[in-house]
Amino acid sequence: MGCYDTLLSPQVASFAFGAHGMLIGGRWQSAQSSKTIDVFDPATGRKFTEVPAGDAADVDLAVRAARRAFADGPWATMPAAERGRLIWQLADRIEELVDEFAQLESLDNGKPVQQAKAVDVPEAVARFRYMAGWAGKINGETVGLSQRGEYHAYTLRRPIGVVGQIIPWNFPLVMAAYKLAPALAAGCTIILKPAEQTPMTALRLGHLMAEVGFPDGVLNIVTGYGETAGAALAAHGDVDKIAFTGSTEVGKAIARAATQNLKQVSLELGGKSPVIVFPDADLDRAIPGAAAAIFFNQGQTCTAGSRLFAHRTVYEKLVEGIHSEIGKMVMGPGLEAGTTLGPLISAEHLDRVNGYIEIGRREGATIVSGTLPRPRGGYFVNPTIIVGAAPDMRVSREEIFGPVLCVTAFDDDELDAIAMKANATEFGLAASLWTRDLSTAHRMAARIDAGTVWINTHNHFDPALAFGGMKQSGWGRESGFHAVELYSSVKAVLAPLN
Ligand code: NAP
Ligand code: MG
Repeated sequence: MGCYDTLLSPQVASFAFGAHGMLIGGRWQSAQSSKTIDVFDPATGRKFTEVPAGDAADVDLAVRAARRAFADGPWATMPAAERGRLIWQLADRIEELVDEFAQLESLDNGKPVQQAKAVDVPEAVARFRYMAGWAGKINGETVGLSQRGEYHAYTLRRPIGVVGQIIPWNFPLVMAAYKLAPALAAGCTIILKPAEQTPMTALRLGHLMAEVGFPDGVLNIVTGYGETAGAALAAHGDVDKIAFTGSTEVGKAIARAATQNLKQVSLELGGKSPVIVFPDADLDRAIPGAAAAIFFNQGQTCTAGSRLFAHRTVYEKLVEGIHSEIGKMVMGPGLEAGTTLGPLISAEHLDRVNGYIEIGRREGATIVSGTLPRPRGGYFVNPTIIVGAAPDMRVSREEIFGPVLCVTAFDDDELDAIAMKANATEFGLAASLWTRDLSTAHRMAARIDAGTVWINTHNHFDPALAFGGMKQSGWGRESGFHAVELYSSVKAVLAPLN
């Protein structure tokens, strides 16, 4: 137990500090090996519980349970509208327990509890609700054939089958919802592997799903390490689809493993997203917007606006403005009510982020650190601005995944020249443009190689709007009907009528 435990409600404390199993075929159980993984509070670095360290043997049991639930039993025969109702009820229950989920997420991940309450939990709820609405509306179509003759031809859209889902630690509940909601709507059965650092809200969700009436085996949760449980899931011969959110490096390993049985693959990977501020931007909006784009969630956001391109005429004002935004932040334990900036996820990640700041310094960039009072213990890092980072420096090219912003000035007025700089990255997840000129905004949006382009906002998501990456930021689009497509397959039926 840590020293902020008194800030937890009795329900959250009793769940978090209690014993945890993993969920296989409706039963909560230990790993076959009996091994466990310690779970830490990032605000203190103290272990607060442990979860089973599942590996290939547990993944195999979970896949069998998911296959049984997919092939027969109540889920296989359940009317689609009934699936939708269960998903909707799950959303209602999460919403009722918003405080509980927010505290649990904050304890496990370190994020400010107020942000978990205002952003993470409502996003997860919205995602389940939106996808609940698709469940009864997943149809094929009748097709008029292109060649001579009379035919009846149509398509059916069927659940893809047993799906493996591997998620990261930065938005544990939201990522679980992104993955589970469309798969459930489509009628799949699931093996979910949460990140080793943040299994808590996924496990709580597993309990809630049983409570609202999802049949056994529809959701199985294998807690475990990526290299063992995750790799076994990606390689398993009886998994029909693997969905992954995480680093580009691991995404490539997943894609390779999936070739063993040619399972379908969708990937949401890393980013190095540009924030481009034009001379006519509303700086009262752009300054807090650019600061939030990088510092929200301690910079541990795949779409973080980590490369700021500011037109020379607004450059100084922006850097000063963002620096003073840092001054308004309150760095502290996520569970304390006033905190706006929590710790990073782990000691290892703290070293990595500090390492990048040092690399930036050695490469010759200027480091402008915030000077926020630093809490004792925990994995805290000051928000940092790196000015004068040349495009070929590592800090400009690699994903830091922390509160570290690289700023560059540009003098160009040609959109193509600006776009070329912004697009000079192997990633293509997101971008934001800050301008009052509609023509600049939309002409620039067309030139940016990214799955999402925001105009005068950043990190604004909606379950209805496509989300995913171009280039090495991923394969496939989550959200909207695109997400349902990831979890279904199309069958064509053709009959000559004469
Ligand atoms: P990560 O190391 O790639 O881990 C993500 C998940 O994959 C974890 O559950 C991890 O397990 C598992 N994993 C690790 N190695 C594996 C392997 N060989 N086979 C199968 N699974 C494996 O990423 P991270 O460092 O935890 O998370 C940060 C990264 O995620 C960043 O690059 C970020 O951009 C990306 N991200 C992308 C999005 C998006 O939507 N595009 C969203 C959030 C995060 P362990 O927990 O045991 O490591
Ligand atoms: Mg990891």
